[in-house]
Amino acid sequence: MEYPELNLLIDGRAVPVGNRPGLEVIDPATLAVLGRVPVAATEDIDEALDAARRSFPGWRDTPALERAAILRRAAALMRERTPRLAWLITRELGKPLSESEKEVATAAEMFEWAAEEARRTYGRLIPGRVGGIRQMAIPEPVGPVAAFSGWNAPAITPSRKIAGALAAGCSIVIKPSEETPAIALEIARALTDAGLPAGVLNMLFGDPGEISRRLIASPVTRMVTFTGSTSIGRDLAVMAASGLKRATLELGGHAPVLVFDDADPEAAADALLAAKLRNSGQICTSPTRMYVQQGVYERFVQRLADRARNWRVGNGLDAAVQMGPMANPRRLAAMESMVADAVKHGAQLAAGGARLDLPGWFWAPTVLRDAGPDCLAANTEPFGPLALVQPFRDADEALAMANRLPFGLASYVFTRDAATARIASERIESGVVCINHCQASLPETPFGGFKDSGLGKEGGVEGLQEFMQVKYVSQM
Ligand code: NAD
Repeated sequence: MEYPELNLLIDGRAVPVGNRPGLEVIDPATLAVLGRVPVAATEDIDEALDAARRSFPGWRDTPALERAAILRRAAALMRERTPRLAWLITRELGKPLSESEKEVATAAEMFEWAAEEARRTYGRLIPGRVGGIRQMAIPEPVGPVAAFSGWNAPAITPSRKIAGALAAGCSIVIKPSEETPAIALEIARALTDAGLPAGVLNMLFGDPGEISRRLIASPVTRMVTFTGSTSIGRDLAVMAASGLKRATLELGGHAPVLVFDDADPEAAADALLAAKLRNSGQICTSPTRMYVQQGVYERFVQRLADRARNWRVGNGLDAAVQMGPMANPRRLAAMESMVADAVKHGAQLAAGGARLDLPGWFWAPTVLRDAGPDCLAANTEPFGPLALVQPFRDADEALAMANRLPFGLASYVFTRDAATARIASERIESGVVCINHCQASLPETPFGGFKDSGLGKEGGVEGLQEFMQVKYVSQM
C-alpha cells in the first residue's frame, strides 16, 4: 500500500503542499519519513472559515434523514476501506494492525450512531398558561464548529467530532493532529464520496497555536471542541469564553484502579494489563494508578509483571505483535524521566523500565511497584505503557488515593461485592467508572471528564446535544 500525498481540505478542494511549508510525518516503528503535510497559511484558515460560514445554512436546512443517509454511507465506505485505513493508522501511530482495524470499526460506528440520533433530536411542547398559546422548546444546530483532535486516537477522535457536528446540522473546520493526517483525510474522503456538500467539512493542518487562535477568534465559529492535554485545553477554553462560545473539552486523565481483596487478582491483572498496553498506553482512559488491597497485592503484582515481561512488542504491521512503539519521541523522553524519578522516590521496577533495542521509538511495558504519591508519574499522566502499583488497607484509603489528583476522566473498580461497587462508583470523582471490566467508552455512551479532565460530553445523546442550542418559541 502507498502512503498518500497529503493536503488541506477547503471548500471541497484538496489543497496540496504546493509552495507552502510542509511538516514531515514519521513512521514511529521505523523512523521513515512517510510524507509531508502542508502548513495552512492565514488565507487558508480564512477560506476554510468562509466555506463553513457559507455552507452552514444549507446543511442546517437539509432534512435530518438526508444528513443521516450521508453519514451512514460514509460509515459503509470506511468499513469497506478498512484494510487501507487500518494500515494508515498503524503507519502513522504505530499500534498493532488488529487494534487499528478495531479503531476503524468504532469510528464507522460513531457515524452510524450519529446518523441514527440525527433523526431523534426532539424538542418539547410546554403547556401554555392561557388558551390558544403554543410554547415550544426547539433544538437547533449551534453553528460552525472549530474542532481540534490529538494523534492518539486518530480515527475515533476526529470521527466523534465530525459525526456529532454533521448530525446536528453544523458545518465544521477541524484540525486533526499533524502527526496523523492521512487517516483523518481518509475519513473526510469517505464523507465526500458519500455526498457531503463542499464546505460543510474543512480540514486544516499546520501551526496548532496559529490555527486555533484564528479559528476560535473568528465570529464565524460558534463552538469549540478539543481533545488533547489539559494545559492546551485550558488555553482554548479561555479563548472560547472570551468570545462567549461554548467549548467541549476532552482532556488528560490519570485513571485510578481499585482492586479489592474480594476480586480475582489474576483476572483483574490480565484485564488491566491489556487495557494499559493498548496503543502503548497512549489513551486518556488508560488505567495507570493501580491501588490494590493488601490481601491480594502480591498476587496481583506478580501476575501483572509476568504478563508485562512477556508482552510481544514490535512493528505493528507484524501480526504477532501485541504492542507497537510510542507515537513520538516526546513520549519516549517522558517514560525515561518518569521511570528514573519513580525509582529515585523508592519505587521498584517489576517489569520493563527501558528502551528496546529496535529502530523506532520503543519502550518496554513497565510495572513500578510500591510507587508512592510523590513521584512524577503518580501526579502527571504518563500517557505511555507504565503502570504504578501501590497497596491500600481499606475502601476509605483507596478512595482518597483515587481522588487525590485534579483529574477525573476514567476509573476502574474490581470487586465481587455489590455494596463496595456501589460506594466506589458513587464516591469516585470521574466522568466514567468501569466496574469489573475496562471498556470505558462506546459510541452510544456519554464520555467526558470531571475536574481538570474536561467539560461536556462526547458520544451518546449528551454528545449530540453539545452541538445544539435550544430556541424557545411561543406562538399565540
Ligand atoms: P500537546 O499538548 O502538545 O498536544 C496535544 C494535541 O493538541 C496535539 O494534537 C496538538 O496538535 C494539539 N495542540 C497543541 N497545541 C495546540 C493549540 N494551541 N491549539 C490547538 N491544538 C493544539 O501534547 P502532546 O505531546 O501531543 O501530548 C502530550 C500530552 O497530551 C499527553 O501526555 C496527554 O496527557 C495529552 N493528550 C491527551 C489526549 C486525550 O485523548 N485526551 C490526546 C493527545 C494528548
